[in-house]
Amino acid sequence: MQGRQTTLIWQDGILLSPGKILPGDRVHNGMRIWLPEKSKVAALCHLNGEPLIRDARILYLGAASGTTVSFLSDYAEVIYAVEFSPRPVRSLVRLARQRSNIIPFFMDARIPERYLPFVEPVDILIQDIAQRDQVEIVVKNLCMLKKGGNLILFLKMLSMGVLKEYEEIIDLSIILLKKAGITNMQVIQLEKYHAGHVAITGVYYPKQ
Ligand code: SAM
Repeated sequence: MQGRQTTLIWQDGILLSPGKILPGDRVHNGMRIWLPEKSKVAALCHLNGEPLIRDARILYLGAASGTTVSFLSDYAEVIYAVEFSPRPVRSLVRLARQRSNIIPFFMDARIPERYLPFVEPVDILIQDIAQRDQVEIVVKNLCMLKKGGNLILFLKMLSMGVLKEYEEIIDLSIILLKKAGITNMQVIQLEKYHAGHVAITGVYYPKQ
């Protein structure tokens, strides 16, 4: 991160998180280590610089048990965390009980109408859902991202069809996102930390 503007805590090239230490966390100088191998958001910070997480309002689709959400909650104002699998959602709810800025939704991200009434417009929309229709899902949720807000979409290539080449998948995704109002897109390979994954980032400027 040297030479880059940073608002997150880095020490000795390690990304740290200032919140309460949780079971399973590794610790450096008394703080939680936000490992790039364990979290795609941390991988993105290492590989491409930081999204503007500090004090942000975030909608997070595919929260699972809340590993990444817990780190985001150390920095952000609020995280609306959507997860539809009963098992991980239990841990997510447990986490949310301990942290007042995590709002969990045990819901399907394909039906945003169900949680939309409870979500204030967000600064960042993050999606980490390994499904064939992962791009269509994020597009459905863009209505909660404020104008000029940032999209971070983690794409699991294999989920989108083994027969398609990665480049074709990325090109098709970019076409869909552009049509939906995403501009300034960047594609970041996460291979170093997460095999078969890329991140697509962009800024939302919906057409009137
Ligand atoms: N983002 C998590 C982290 O870093 O801690 C890991 C997410 S895991 C790769 C993907 C999650 O998306 C799974 O827990 C899965 O149940 C969830 N998921 C898949 N489809 C979903 C949908 N339609 N709505 C909500 N959650 C979904």
